Amino acid sequence: MKALVYHGPGQKDWESVPDPRVIDSTDVIVQVDTTTICGTDLHILLGDVPAVEPGRILGHEAVGTVVEVGDAVSTLAVGDRVLVPAITSCGSCVYCRRQMPSHCQGVGGIGWVFGHLIDGTQAEYVRVPFGQTSLHRVPEGVTDEQLIFLADIFPTGFEMGVQYGGVKPGDVVAIVGVGPVGLAAVQTASLHGASKIIAVGRTWPRIKSALDLGATHGISTQDPDWLDQVMGLTDGLGVDVVIEAVGVPQTLEDAFRIVRPGGHVANAGVHGKSFTLPINDLWIQNITFTTGLVNGTTVPALLELLKAGKINPEAMGTHYFTLDEMLLAYDVFEHSGTHNCLKTVIRKA
Ligand SMILES: [Zn+2]
Ligand SMILES: [Zn+2]
Repeated sequence: MKALVYHGPGQKDWESVPDPRVIDSTDVIVQVDTTTICGTDLHILLGDVPAVEPGRILGHEAVGTVVEVGDAVSTLAVGDRVLVPAITSCGSCVYCRRQMPSHCQGVGGIGWVFGHLIDGTQAEYVRVPFGQTSLHRVPEGVTDEQLIFLADIFPTGFEMGVQYGGVKPGDVVAIVGVGPVGLAAVQTASLHGASKIIAVGRTWPRIKSALDLGATHGISTQDPDWLDQVMGLTDGLGVDVVIEAVGVPQTLEDAFRIVRPGGHVANAGVHGKSFTLPINDLWIQNITFTTGLVNGTTVPALLELLKAGKINPEAMGTHYFTLDEMLLAYDVFEHSGTHNCLKTVIRKA
């Protein structure tokens, strides 16, 4: 088969590799019908994730069709259409039993294994460990394009942003960073009753996307008075819940500048550097700060919301490719600003 193989920082190719096969009895082999590229894949290509070894097939999101199952798999069969989530779950380790498969001990000690510790989904086929407890059978009448972003960015924005941020009815929520994860938080903040959803971004095309997807206010940090604009929307108090969805020190520091006493800062960004926590100011502010890797435990609920038309993950897909155009898709995604690209959708030809 063909796959996108990482060959060390800055090096990748779409090349022929052996087909995956069932190794463990709980494995499921899935034909990849649709996949995408995550910002995390770009971090890997920059060399930011040293656990990813040269020779690894990248990618951790897919919608596909089951083509083979191991002997221990009883609830999935060849031909089933499935969502391959970013996080695999053995279903029985201490973390899976606590509904926290992000730290599943089943494969390598963390739930994110695809395109990280084992071969991933940017390929024609992928081996899914613990397929029965990891894969989601998908409902009839829902398209791949609607489903693909439920593999990672949508649950990341919802779980790490809205849920960990403790959004409750009436809250003013600010989302700092309006890339794909930020926009997923924008789309799901209203599910928990946010009264205002403030999209804080840099450039207007992205802020405009946030307004189209449910943000009630948009503010650009390029405005010198952007902090005053945020405060002006909250009677000068600051916001109840700030969701950081960029992953650089500046935006996380900004999050702590706009949160009100008693509020929450929920980190959803992928960070490569530490930041300064002004604990000398914050110790008296009753702030809760959360971090986390997505669990994907809300995927069944998000599937129901999708069927009911309450969320629109398909809106994230702006650029479409076939698997053979993988390198072109990477090029566009790496220069997403130039192409006004939010997410790529990469489909079997
Ligand atoms: Zn991802
Ligand atoms: Zn587990």
